[in-house]
Amino acid sequence: MTVGALRMTPAQYVGYLEQTADMIASQGSYITDLDAAIGDGDHWLNLNIGFQKIKEQADSLKCLPNFQELFTQLSRLIMSSMGGTSGALYGSMYLAAAKQCISLVNLDYNHLSDLLFCWSNTIMERGNTQPGEKTMLDAIFPAAQKYKDARACGLPEREALSELKQAALDGAQSTKGMAAKRGRASIQPGKGVGHLDPGAVTMALQLECLADCFEA
Ligand code: ADP
Ligand code: MG
Repeated sequence: MTVGALRMTPAQYVGYLEQTADMIASQGSYITDLDAAIGDGDHWLNLNIGFQKIKEQADSLKCLPNFQELFTQLSRLIMSSMGGTSGALYGSMYLAAAKQCISLVNLDYNHLSDLLFCWSNTIMERGNTQPGEKTMLDAIFPAAQKYKDARACGLPEREALSELKQAALDGAQSTKGMAAKRGRASIQPGKGVGHLDPGAVTMALQLECLADCFEA
């Protein structure tokens, strides 16, 4: 495998999380309305509390020497602050990623691909879900696949990152037509058909931010 020219240090990753915290904070009414329609309306609140906690701790997180320590710490912070299914899944995603990133100090193009699949697999296992069931997985799984395919075709890194972003956004949009098989929407009479899944939308927004920070 080639080593990518685009890369991130742990401190730069924390910079990405700070930007994400601001982006999430600005989307309160949009995301709350989405979750109020097919869930219990707290998805944005759960995410926002967790990301604001990360932002508060950003200076000390930036001093961590590698991704294993950073992701372990993020998992702890998320599990102790972010509520709901999102808190459990995001906490597990970072714990799984920490185990995969032993002593990693530069996250490059190849690691990013591994990370997207690690997160997707964790959601599938912990959430007992598959693509097409109207969850956050429907944004990250197509993004992971598209990014892998783009790299396999030899697309330049920036173009592969564009494909990643577009696949995540398209994936989130595709949840509108899906009938939920997991989560609160699955126990509603209409299974959420005709509505976007809030967790898929926020996942796509985060992946867009990650890809932008990765190439900055
Ligand atoms: P809760 O459902 O506990 O209120 P949140 O409101 O924080 O949790 O998050 C809701 C989002 O979580 C949904 O929009 C969906 O994307 C995701 N989700 C719910 N259940 C699952 C699951 N079993 N697997 C993966 N994602 C799920
Ligand atoms: Mg909820």
